[in-house]
Amino acid sequence: MKISLIVPCFNEGKTVALFYKEVIKVLSKIKYDYELLFIDDGSTDNTLKILKEISKENKNIKYISFSRNFGKEAAMYAGFSNASGDFVAVMDADMQDPPSLLPDMLELLENNDYDSVATRRVSRKGEPVIRSFFARMFYKLINRFSDADIVDGARDFRLMKREMVDAVVAMGEANRFSKGIFGWIGFKTYWLSYENNERIAGETKWSFWKLFKYAIDGIINFSQVPLNLASWFGIIMTVISFLVMLVIIFKKILFGDPVAGWPSTICFILFIGGIQLFCIGVMGQYLSKTYSETKRRPHYIISQTNDENIKKIG
Ligand code: UDP
Ligand code: MG
Repeated sequence: MKISLIVPCFNEGKTVALFYKEVIKVLSKIKYDYELLFIDDGSTDNTLKILKEISKENKNIKYISFSRNFGKEAAMYAGFSNASGDFVAVMDADMQDPPSLLPDMLELLENNDYDSVATRRVSRKGEPVIRSFFARMFYKLINRFSDADIVDGARDFRLMKREMVDAVVAMGEANRFSKGIFGWIGFKTYWLSYENNERIAGETKWSFWKLFKYAIDGIINFSQVPLNLASWFGIIMTVISFLVMLVIIFKKILFGDPVAGWPSTICFILFIGGIQLFCIGVMGQYLSKTYSETKRRPHYIISQTNDENIKKIG
């Protein structure tokens, strides 16, 4: 039996050596073989250099270096596609996913009928207030509108059995949103809660704007509800305008109709125009996803690795 750890690294020169030291301490106590798969996601600092150094001293380390920054989702996909373990986990390089949880997670999988152990943080301590607020709103929205149920505060850190990993790899979509994918494929998952840890060094790679776009992508990838908005607005507007028509006709019959109402006309035109543009925008979002899916471009391109068997384009 073997456990594979996938570690996406983007400019993690300050953290990756520390992470390696900690994780090796934990792994040496586990009774299984292990494999560490570091994915260098087009880092511009010394991350790759450090990875090369540590992989020289430890045979169980594989590194994969992308030809440019493809994003964490692509890095995770490369990891899942190339992990050979019976158990597979994704972990951040910044120690926000504590390696010390691994033994407990393994035990849970061995002794119970679960296919994966996922983690969620119970607090958002150390995070900007606005970011927390939008994060909460996002989870509310996506759970309401999508068929993949997504737990608030869920992290990408989870330990999975082989069957589940194969299912994740089989979901070969170009627009990836792992939290949705994990929810969509199903399987029995145990949720482990822990307090949020702050990053040990370096800085977060996710600006507010990047996260916001990622959230919108998540909703669009796993829900068709926004696409139906136009129809709903259309129905509502038709009913309202029918009622308004009745009111106008009766007013005309009862009171006559001096010419007035320019401001209200403009208001209605602007309002309806706004809704129409919004709906076209929503359709555009789906169209652009369809466009990028149909191109079937690779998820990532590998420029260097220490394992010949790994496919360079995937
Ligand atoms: N990461 C990556 N590619 C990216 C952005 C991030 O591989 O384009 C990695 C990063 O190196 C880290 C993990 O994804 O190991 C989580 O990133 P980060 O800690 O910056 O995110 P946060 O924890 O602040 O959400
Ligand atoms: Mg982090």
